[in-house]
Amino acid sequence: MIQENLAEVEARITNACKRAGRSRDEVTLIAVSKTKPLEDLREAYAYGCRNFGENKVQELCDKIEQMPSDIRWHMIGHLQRNKVKYLIGKTACIHSVDSVRLAEQIETESAKKNVITNILVEVNVAQEESKFGISLEQAESYVREFAKFPHIRVCGFMTIAPYTTNPEENRQFFSDLRKVYVDIKGKNIDNVNMSILSMGMTNDYEIAIEEGATMVRVGTGIFGERNYTI
Ligand SMILES: *Cc1c(COP(=O)(O)O)cnc(C)c1O
Repeated sequence: MIQENLAEVEARITNACKRAGRSRDEVTLIAVSKTKPLEDLREAYAYGCRNFGENKVQELCDKIEQMPSDIRWHMIGHLQRNKVKYLIGKTACIHSVDSVRLAEQIETESAKKNVITNILVEVNVAQEESKFGISLEQAESYVREFAKFPHIRVCGFMTIAPYTTNPEENRQFFSDLRKVYVDIKGKNIDNVNMSILSMGMTNDYEIAIEEGATMVRVGTGIFGERNYTI
């Protein structure tokens, strides 16, 4: 099943890239494997996935230990400051940085381990109460604030668009975030390397690609529905 799902996601990504006049290699697929057993991750790995996303620190650390070492791990879930120390040095990128206090903690732990940690600023594009992230208006000031930390590299933005049965409704949110991304990229801020726009999930990744996403985070579309009761 995972093999077929991956083939379908891959075909859809390729088509969305074509529609947008983009090259397929501009978009990285992150297989979001949260709650899924190792055998599922191994299957995805066997069919070529090398980027995996998780949203809980403990689960992420357990899976890192048991999976091949050439995987790039993405922390995509809300991160508590007291858990940062377990993550540093293990992730390709932390997608969910939305406060100076959290960035400070990432700086402190990264300095201790003498590493530079790649982060994305999480933006709450639709200003939903239920979601984490800063507002679009605050995006540049947060980028500038985070850029002051020598052991952090700001690589771009992440957003979780609203859940909707009509993904077209999210197009404007993606497009708005891309505008701010391009604008800030053009300012060449010191210690900022705007290269990642992480947007689009199972429901809306094709629209996100058409609007400029460079990373899409697909869980259900690859692994099937998640069961949170077990
Ligand atoms: C769970 C999750 C995803 C994947 O969601 P699907 O709808 O299953 O593709 C993507 N991004 C974040 C931040 C998530 O928590």
